[in-house]
Amino acid sequence: MVKCGICGASANFFSEYKGINRDNEFLVKAFSDKAVWCCPDCHYCFCHPWVEFKLLKDYYESCFWEKGGKLSRNLLAKLKKLVPGIIARRLRGQRPLDERLQSLISLLERFIDEKGGVNWLRGNYILEIGAGAASISSALLRHYNSRGASLKSHVVEPSDQFKHIYRWDNLRKIANTFEEMDESLTYMVILSQHWLEHVIDLDCVFLKIKRLLKDDGLIFLEVPNCESPYWEHRFSPNPPHLHFFTPKSIRLLAEKYDFQVLFLMTYGRLIEFEKHVGYLKPDTPKLVSNSELRQLEAERDFKTRVFYESLAGDNRLAPAAYYLKNAYSESGREFIHLLATRNREGKT
Ligand SMILES: [Zn+2]
Repeated sequence: MVKCGICGASANFFSEYKGINRDNEFLVKAFSDKAVWCCPDCHYCFCHPWVEFKLLKDYYESCFWEKGGKLSRNLLAKLKKLVPGIIARRLRGQRPLDERLQSLISLLERFIDEKGGVNWLRGNYILEIGAGAASISSALLRHYNSRGASLKSHVVEPSDQFKHIYRWDNLRKIANTFEEMDESLTYMVILSQHWLEHVIDLDCVFLKIKRLLKDDGLIFLEVPNCESPYWEHRFSPNPPHLHFFTPKSIRLLAEKYDFQVLFLMTYGRLIEFEKHVGYLKPDTPKLVSNSELRQLEAERDFKTRVFYESLAGDNRLAPAAYYLKNAYSESGREFIHLLATRNREGKT
């Protein structure tokens, strides 16, 4: 019997992984013999059996962020070396945040300020996991350090391609993966966007977050929202995702580890947006070539553009306005935002 890792109910087979890039040896090895199982009670879905940690680690270190040709990446790397850090930092500090990041930062500031803001953070550390360009950490550091918080940030990220950004923004990369990160410090805030759905062992990860978070600390998680109608429009799993959360299941997960949920909403476009643009179809085979995937993505980009154009003629702000319109609701939007703190009553 396959059990739901969150609520313990008996889970059901749902689908094989489909749309796996056949030209990527890591993805083929990791996912071609895997399936998605679903819990009928909390609607959490998950990869079964587990994928080997080493395979996924190699994948994230080598090709997860791969975009564009090798030549343009090399050129970009050279250009980045030529820009003096002090200028880059100033330019980045002056640049306005995009609407999505700005609304996220406002949410975090609201809860941090309730805890005591600058005084609460003073001299402490925050941690961003699966950080990529670490845009949340950078924005929080700029905001609170300009007010005297002396806040420091650590990041965990498997890829090496964001090193220059970390240097410019005074962030320190301390490990490639959260699983391998040492536990010498504790953190006031632990953040991640689109990381939790990629980890292999949720239990190990949550126990470690609990050990690393200060008693009064905050965690923020953003994950895709896979409640209905996610599967209807997407039709097949999205490798390399291993977990498919719903608001109900992620709340249960946080509470299982004695976190008190302070904020839990779905955010962004309606999942039904995928009905207009989704590229994985019911007949998408298990393996798809690189060029077929690029073709499907190009079609999706085109359909997205046409959809946005249909919203408001040539108003260039239409996509952002649509995206943010009533940005939060209890269900039905494409991402879940969860903010939680340690539950004092749950502490023994
Ligand atoms: Zn369940």
